[in-house]
Amino acid sequence: MLLYWVCQRSPLKLYKTKLVGATILSVKRRAKLLLFELSSDYVLIIHLKMTGQLVWRSQVGKVRSGGHPIQGVDQVPNKFTYITLKLSSGGKLFFNDVRQFGYWQLIPKRDLLRQLQHYGPEPLARNFSLNEFSRLLGRHANTTIKSALLNQTVVAGLGNIYVDETLFAARVRPIRKVSSLKNKETMAIHQAIIKILKKAVAARGTSFNTYVDAKGRSGSYWRVRYVYGRPGQKCLKCGQVIKRTIIAGRGTHYCASCQK
Ligand SMILES: [Zn+2]
Repeated sequence: MLLYWVCQRSPLKLYKTKLVGATILSVKRRAKLLLFELSSDYVLIIHLKMTGQLVWRSQVGKVRSGGHPIQGVDQVPNKFTYITLKLSSGGKLFFNDVRQFGYWQLIPKRDLLRQLQHYGPEPLARNFSLNEFSRLLGRHANTTIKSALLNQTVVAGLGNIYVDETLFAARVRPIRKVSSLKNKETMAIHQAIIKILKKAVAARGTSFNTYVDAKGRSGSYWRVRYVYGRPGQKCLKCGQVIKRTIIAGRGTHYCASCQK
């Protein structure tokens, strides 16, 4: 039943005919989607959502994991494992998901571009220019900047933590309307997105292989964040208390002194 829930975006029969027995030709990422190109001319799409995790274990027990670690659980399979793929190398790939928001989907390769076309630019790609960012933001003039940055059509792959950290770095309050932003503020946000994501990727990279290491589990970016998850604590820049509110339905953290 749960297995079906994870896979329900495609008929189960399709997994048996297009995934089982197929070769994985490449693994890529677009926005928050992982894309496994298969020899069956299908693409397996995996979205980890808030608590999904992929763990690969080789035949000799070597383990690599990516996605959201599960606190206190360092074995696979475990009670949060919903899918296990047996690989021809003798290894296994496990999909774990504590809250079961993640999903798998199989689509024909020829439909991939259409499926991805509504996503905005990748923030670390060359086409994420200030001009393009301003143009896409302009479509959301009447929303808050927090909401606009979470919108995957403006910029792809930015999640709640990184939006809060970006706006802190750019010194802009999350509640501000997009239409109220001055050019130099838009520029600061654009630069902050790139800076924060580069930092986050580097920090995740250092903890990527530490599945069995309790210290590494939360990813080292957690230790360098300024506002996210720090309500009531002192701002690391000015000493004022970090505030928390709800914007666009999401917990939002900011410093009322540093951010205008
Ligand atoms: Zn501050």
